[in-house]
Amino acid sequence: MTQAYPIQFKAEMKEKVWGGRALEQFGLEMPDGAIGEGWMISDHPNGLTKVINGEFAGLNLEDIRHRVGKEWFGTKSNIDADTRFPLLIKLLDCNDDLSVQVHPNDDYEKLPKGELGKTEMWYVLDAKPGAKIIYGLKPGVTREQLAHALENNEVMDTLQEVEVVPGDSFYIPAGTVHALCSGVVVAEIQQNSDTTYRLYDYNRPGLDGELRELHIEDSLNTVAFGDSGATYMKTETAPNTWLSLAKSPYFHVEKGIVAAPWQLTTTPESFVILIVCEGEGTLTWENGQETLQAGQCFLLPANLGKYTLEGNCTVLRSTL
Ligand code: ZN
Repeated sequence: MTQAYPIQFKAEMKEKVWGGRALEQFGLEMPDGAIGEGWMISDHPNGLTKVINGEFAGLNLEDIRHRVGKEWFGTKSNIDADTRFPLLIKLLDCNDDLSVQVHPNDDYEKLPKGELGKTEMWYVLDAKPGAKIIYGLKPGVTREQLAHALENNEVMDTLQEVEVVPGDSFYIPAGTVHALCSGVVVAEIQQNSDTTYRLYDYNRPGLDGELRELHIEDSLNTVAFGDSGATYMKTETAPNTWLSLAKSPYFHVEKGIVAAPWQLTTTPESFVILIVCEGEGTLTWENGQETLQAGQCFLLPANLGKYTLEGNCTVLRSTL
């Protein structure tokens, strides 16, 4: 039987009309082109990630799920033959504005079979001066007002936007109208879903030169009018303590600054995903050690047990 160890994956890179080359700063292998998304840990058919370290090297996350999902992913994952790994972890380079979009919740009747809704959160890794993020409608905007604004090319007037700096954090529940805008690099933790409804795309041609499809009816059906529950926060925190960034039915994400050796442990309920945001360090467990550097993501099995973070780095810890 394979002993539990922190798994690292090769990122699946996705070219996007709004992408760039900023993910190169993390030493990731990149194909040519405007790369918008690096899928770092994925059990989604649109981009399964393959293991690059340890005994499972060469297998993808779906293979791992079939072999050891029940023991390694934890009791809250509810892994059975039809249940995929619950989260999808990405790094995004928003070299241009992303479409204004919304994601459905798990109950939306028109979801493709097997697909989930998408609640997500972002942690800003890098931001050019003045870069913005759109997170939700302005207070009081109704379905009728949004539909009217879409018809009249005035949707930007209905949206709530904020200037961001590295370290800012957003929680975007399903139903929140949102857009990442030009000049930000973010880590994204989300439900394992690839369903997006586009409300507005700046009348901009896609990679093939055609306008990308809009999904106005699905969007209007999906938007949570009133308060969607989206939040935005600054994340200053003391070293070697966890600051909670987002707590949802789907994930709990915390930020920690490693400044002294930090002894931690996994629990039987959930795997742990570590995303290194900046700095360097080491991750040590009973049978081994990995070096940590910005941009790396590790999946720590629920049955790993004790582990220690050392060095000088900032990490995000995601659990169920
Ligand atoms: Zn989104």
